Amino acid sequence: MCFLRKILLLTTLPAMILMGCSGGGSDENASDAGVFSRPFAGEYSNSWSFDHDLPLGYFNESCKEEAQPHVLTWEGEMEKAGWGDSRCHNGYDWLTPEGTPLLAVADGEVIFADAEPPFKCGARGMVSALIVSLRHDTVLGVLETVYIHLSRIDVAVGDRVKEGEQIGLSGSTGCSSGPHLHFSVYRRMADGTRRVVDPFGWEGESDDPWAVHPMGAESIWLWRPGAEPNGY
Ligand SMILES: [Zn+2]
Repeated sequence: MCFLRKILLLTTLPAMILMGCSGGGSDENASDAGVFSRPFAGEYSNSWSFDHDLPLGYFNESCKEEAQPHVLTWEGEMEKAGWGDSRCHNGYDWLTPEGTPLLAVADGEVIFADAEPPFKCGARGMVSALIVSLRHDTVLGVLETVYIHLSRIDVAVGDRVKEGEQIGLSGSTGCSSGPHLHFSVYRRMADGTRRVVDPFGWEGESDDPWAVHPMGAESIWLWRPGAEPNGY
């Protein structure tokens, strides 16, 4: 059922027939193609998940009042992060220790590799994260990945990178309370807009609110079989 639903919802992407259901560990995964490998070697805890309620980023104005103070996970469950208000997260945080090599999840081109413009991060004052962003032309369309809070950048804008190639090291630069990787995925839509999506897709019982939101887009499972990091 899940497989059919995804095909019906994604008829604009002909290659979608390669995709199956995103359910972790289900037999349907055998038919998954997937386009991403893991952004690091090994396994690290996930401390903050993508919020299907309103994944505009914690500091977005809309998130201060409109969004509920939890994240709605890809499994359709409301979850509160251990540190309190967890709304609006636009990616995944994995607790990669300082210096963990970060890897390109797919072949691509480096489209950003620099410090972000400084901004105020509460009591920490002005901060600026080191960020790498990659653009991937895949059978599922154009996808962009963003890696944030790096301690070191190993690539430059315009570089071509291969899947699994090191792009930098994990750290805690920017508005961060400790070393981790923030990883976000965006899809280039037919109209040229860039929409954030959940690389784990959506498996909730009800419809994904982000898929029908005016600023949203449908999320589909993007990991190669067995390549997914901890998504819970
Ligand atoms: Zn994050």
